[in-house]
Amino acid sequence: MAGTRRSPIRTCIACRRPLPKAELNRLALVEGRVVEDREKKYGGRGAYVCHELECLDRILRNDRRCLDRAFRKKVKFLDLAELKRKIEAEEVLQGV
Ligand SMILES: [Zn+2]
Repeated sequence: MAGTRRSPIRTCIACRRPLPKAELNRLALVEGRVVEDREKKYGGRGAYVCHELECLDRILRNDRRCLDRAFRKKVKFLDLAELKRKIEAEEVLQGV
């Protein structure tokens, strides 16, 4: 076996691109706040967003409906500043 276990495909909630789960950031709803589920420690419903800053920005700026849809409830609070910093740092590294 080559050990290339395929990652399941999930869709970015902002750009709707289907990507392997490993290339997406998982978001979870914890006590009414959307947080990055970096260690996959939160169970339940998750939402996925790709590593494009544009996508995270879209969610942060206005389009919470995609979160509402992903979590099937109204989302009021976002706790994603750290994730945004991380993605910005990645873009700097890539020289975008
Ligand atoms: Zn995206």
